[in-house]
This record gives sequence, structure tokens and C-alpha cells, in this order.
Amino acid sequence: MSLVAVIDVKGWCPGVLRPMQSGDGLLARVRPWCGALRLDEAKGLADAAERFGNGHIDLTRRANLQIRGLGDASVQGLQDAVARLGLVDRDADVEAGRNIMVSPLAGIDPAEADIRPIAGTLADLLARDTGLQRLPSKFGFLVDGGGPVSIAGERADISLKALGQAKAAGMAVGLDTPAGTDWVGSTPIDEAADVAASIARIFIGLAQEQRRLRDLGDGPYGRLRAIVRKGLGPVGIPSVVSRRLIGIKGSVVGVAAPFGRLEAHQLRSLAGLAKEAGATDIRLSPWRALYVGARDAAAAQALVTGAHDIGLIVDASDPILRIDACPGAPACRSSSVDTRRTAGRLAALPFTGSIHVSGCAKGCARSAPADLVLVGEKGRYGVIHNGNARDLPRRIVDANEAGVLVDV
Ligand code: SF4
Repeated sequence: MSLVAVIDVKGWCPGVLRPMQSGDGLLARVRPWCGALRLDEAKGLADAAERFGNGHIDLTRRANLQIRGLGDASVQGLQDAVARLGLVDRDADVEAGRNIMVSPLAGIDPAEADIRPIAGTLADLLARDTGLQRLPSKFGFLVDGGGPVSIAGERADISLKALGQAKAAGMAVGLDTPAGTDWVGSTPIDEAADVAASIARIFIGLAQEQRRLRDLGDGPYGRLRAIVRKGLGPVGIPSVVSRRLIGIKGSVVGVAAPFGRLEAHQLRSLAGLAKEAGATDIRLSPWRALYVGARDAAAAQALVTGAHDIGLIVDASDPILRIDACPGAPACRSSSVDTRRTAGRLAALPFTGSIHVSGCAKGCARSAPADLVLVGEKGRYGVIHNGNARDLPRRIVDANEAGVLVDV
């Protein structure tokens, strides 16, 4: 099949082997193994983004990254470069199914269980079992180590969360429902990946057209839940408080890229700073912050200073962190407004609530409600208060009226 035929297929999530057309060319989503990029991988991706794309790299809400601005002539070079780094799967279907979020401090923070082996086993199962490749492309998993910097509050079809933090006594098993995660039981650590794969197989057997577990409907969901419950131990409702760390915690450093957009030179420099700090990898998170485990507090401080100097956010009170903005125009063909330019102007204004600037009603950058939501349409913005991008706007304003937009 030609590349053009592949990228015209609707409903796929993009990958390296199956890029997607966007407003600024093709984009390729890179799925790091177990949520981490070795430093040579990070540097290699930065080089490839600059050489074959336009140098823009977006961090995604699934803890992946997207290389943008590829041309029909350059995409093969990018695919070869990423393959040499070991970051592509056997084929595009296996790549599309490897949707596993991993808590970013696993193996770094002694306060949480190192659950990376569970995520690795699950990735192997997804690659080996061709039946699991019938999962819809947006179907995803989450594996959390039970520490304070937790991803357990993020949305995933199947969640596994360590019980008991550093010395985990087992894994809580959660299923995504319209009302949030339904923690249905617990499983021993060494069975957790198999349990998650088994639940996914049951979903495949019950789903009709549904692409997510939360869309199954009461009847099929009740049947799935009953089958799953039989094989699990008891569980309470685990604490799922998520805490986004930006700055320093002990010897761990969390940094963010403004509106989730990294430039290739920033990723390359961050890899260099991480190496000087004694780290071996860079961790990704669903809130689009990056984490590095430094050798000690002094190395962490030096890394923070360096990250600030290359334009990354290192302060949890930075007003940009209150704002979510999708790529918008010209990067996305669905947008008629330059969302990130608007977001940058809003960051300078004295509004202290959360803000979501979305290029269209799809609302890619944020699913939770925000205090102020701006949704682009025909070059203007619909204004919504305390809602999300799909809600009905209260008024429409010109894209340049940033000062009016915060007049709530
Ligand atoms: S919200 Fe709309 S404009 Fe923004 S990235 Fe998603 S599809 Fe594109």
C-alpha cells in the first residue's frame, strides 16, 4: 500500500510507520518504551526531527511525542532513523496497539513500586497476540507505581495501580466507565499484565462498534465486569490523587515545555543536561512534563538552571502551566486560529483560573473542564466558562480580543 493511501485512512492514531497528514505536513507519533527515552534516543529523535521534519516536537497527553512537518520525500528517512534507535515496532498495527502509559518516576522515586516490568510484559503480549491487534487504536492501558507523582487519575481503558507503594502487595485493576475508573479488584504483581490482556480480549469479544471500554453500554459492561471480578481479589478504592511535579523533588527534576511544544534543540540540550546530571533517561508524562532523575540535589539544581536557560518551564507557579492549548493553525488543518499565540498572550494577563484554548470543538489538549475555554471557529473564538470545548459558547469574540477574553 502506498504511503498516501495509508495516511488517508480515517480513525487511525498516527505512528512512525503510519504517519498522519496535518496542517504543517506529516506527523509521526513516537511511542517510547515504558514511558522513557534513553539519552541517545532523545538526542537521535531531536536530530531526526530537525533533519526530516520542521524541528517541532509535541508532547502528547498519552506520554508520547510527535515529530511534525515531515514531507512525502523525507518521511522514509525519519522512519529509518527512528528504527535505528529501536523505537519502532514490527509493523504499523503492533505500533498502533502499544498504548501504555507508565508512571514517570517508576524506578527513580523510592516511594513507588517499579512497575516497568509489568508495562514491558504487557507490551510483549500486545505485540505477540495477533488477536489483541483487533483492539481499537485509541484503546489504552495505564500502569502506576502507587507513588505521589501518580498517573492513576488519568483516563485509560484498563488501569493497573500498585497497592502499597514501594513494596507493592499487588495491583488494583481499574476499568474505564462514563463515571470514571471502576476499581474492580486486585491481582498479584506477576499476573497483572496477563490480567490486563485478558480483559482486553473480553472487550474485543463484547464490543460491536465501540472504540472505548467506557462506550460499551450498561449490559455488555456488566457482563465484562462480572467475568473480570471472578478472577480478582478484593480491593478498596485506591487513592488516585495525581500530582504534577514541576521543579525539584529530592534529586528528581520535572520540567515542562510551553503548551507541550518542544523544539528539537531543546530536546537535544535537555539530553545533554541530563547526562551531566548523571541520568540515563528522560521520562514522559501524560501531563506533558518531562522528568529526569539526577545523581544528587546539586546536580538537580544545575539541571534546573540549564533547563530554564533553554526555555523550559521549571517553576510550578509559571502562569503558562494554567493554560492548555492544542497546536492550532497552521499546524492543524482543523483550526482557523493560532491557538498558541493566543495562549501566550493570555498567560500575560491577570487571570488565575485554568484556561483551555482549542483550535476546534474536538478539544485535543484537555478533556477536563476549564474555567475559561476558547474554541476556534472561522477565525474567531467561542467563549465558554466552566466547561469544555464541546459546550455551547456564551459569546463569540475576535481572535485579537485577548484582553476581553479574560473579562469573566
Ligand atoms: S482540537 Fe481541533 S484544532 Fe486542535 S489539534 Fe485537535 S483537531 Fe486540531
